Amino acid sequence: MALSRSSRDMELHSTLEAMVARRREVMPQDPIQFVRRYDGAANRELVGLLAAFLAYGRVASILGGLETLLRPWGDDPAGAVRDGMHLDDDWARGFQYRWTTRSHLVALLDSIRDVWAEEGSLGQALATSVNEAGGVSETGLTAWTTRLREGAAARAGDSRALRFLISDPGGASAAKRLRLYLRWMIRPDDGVDLGLWSSLLPAADLVIPLDTHWARLAPRLGWTRRRTANAAMARDITGVLSRACPEDPLRYDFPICHFGIEGGCPTRLTWQDCVPCPLRPVCASGRRRVAAARRRGST
Ligand code: SF4
Repeated sequence: MALSRSSRDMELHSTLEAMVARRREVMPQDPIQFVRRYDGAANRELVGLLAAFLAYGRVASILGGLETLLRPWGDDPAGAVRDGMHLDDDWARGFQYRWTTRSHLVALLDSIRDVWAEEGSLGQALATSVNEAGGVSETGLTAWTTRLREGAAARAGDSRALRFLISDPGGASAAKRLRLYLRWMIRPDDGVDLGLWSSLLPAADLVIPLDTHWARLAPRLGWTRRRTANAAMARDITGVLSRACPEDPLRYDFPICHFGIEGGCPTRLTWQDCVPCPLRPVCASGRRRVAAARRRGST
């Protein structure tokens, strides 16, 4: 017998669904737009991985770096990597994006090429790792990233920069860029996420890519008691989202993040910000602030 939802969970569900309905279009400078330029599963999982793993720093710099890396390969970057064009000395000569150098990327691309040769796709390799871990997604995810990282380290040597580029989901860090990549690949195609691996892995197991906007919003919403943006906070928030949509908790990630990006729930918050806020019905802090203002006769 199906369990009935509590009234709190139903309110959470309806509030978050309203956030989905009011979701704006993806901004042209969002890295997922870059991935969507390419056709074909192999191109999208490759470009998606590069776009997500390099998604630190300013968006304009990230997109500029991606243009430099991918322009020489035209509309078939996966074919170029399979053909070993990344080994050509002229490819991305002198490239450096903050801690990531050309040699890190060559090593990562070589590692991806090995995985493709053995498994057919990165998604299939992740599904294999999850199956081998007995269906435990997090353990399988750690095995998958370790495989990619060790393959790259065998070429470029192990280093902090390489471990930063291919982060470890098993540690205390929220592994935001890796989680973002998984959301893009696994969640159904909704015009933002791609649904490329939807048949291989369950969206129910995803954990949010915790960014600064979530880290500001979630304690105010009362969805976490933590103040440090780490893996534990990401799991707290995902747990709340799962109450609204157990089979696809991250359907709310993009709308809520973009609410924060567009200035919602600002750092210097006043009760006037809370009055029109679409999240107020499920926000502990917002309800308190507005109620206090009413008691003072301010509203
Ligand atoms: S109700 Fe107020 S505190 Fe809560 S999310 Fe909205 S703006 Fe932020």
